[in-house]
Amino acid sequence: MNQSYIALGSNIDEPIKNVQRAISELGKTNKVIASSSFYLTKPWGYLDQPDFINAVILIETIFSPYALLGQLQALEKHMGRERTIHWGPRSIDLDILTFNDETIVEPDLVIPHPHMLERAFVLAPLSEINSDYLEAYLKLSNESRNEIQRLGLERL
Ligand code: ADP
Ligand code: MG
Repeated sequence: MNQSYIALGSNIDEPIKNVQRAISELGKTNKVIASSSFYLTKPWGYLDQPDFINAVILIETIFSPYALLGQLQALEKHMGRERTIHWGPRSIDLDILTFNDETIVEPDLVIPHPHMLERAFVLAPLSEINSDYLEAYLKLSNESRNEIQRLGLERL
């Protein structure tokens, strides 16, 4: 069985519900082993948009990395994501952070996710469910760490 950490983000159309729904949908075809608290975070890259809700889950999956990516993209599409502005507002964004300890570098799939170690909105929830990432999180600037707020919502 494969283990994969998935990052979830949403900033339009009831973001909390979107993240909860995506976790529950992913749980239908994979086993959700752990899920982080939810975080309220400032937008990144493209700043003129609403704040995000972010979370990270650990799943056990029988699927290959590409099959999992296909599943995530189908769910993004199903949940109404439209690809317009790069790093712009989205009803749901689902990124594969890691897949076992595999390294994949292809035009359409890079694992581990290239930006995961720079982003507080990934490392805060990730280090909550895997303490190996705590060091990387603590290395981030205070400024970037202060841009996120732990909500600690009840997960579904
Ligand atoms: P971002 O997540 O950076 O905001 P998108 O969600 O629009 O950007 O993703 C753009 C492309 O990133 C997707 O078409 C997908 O093929 C590619 N991609 C590369 N690596 C990954 C990964 N680890 N997880 C998810 N998508 C990835
Ligand atoms: Mg994405």
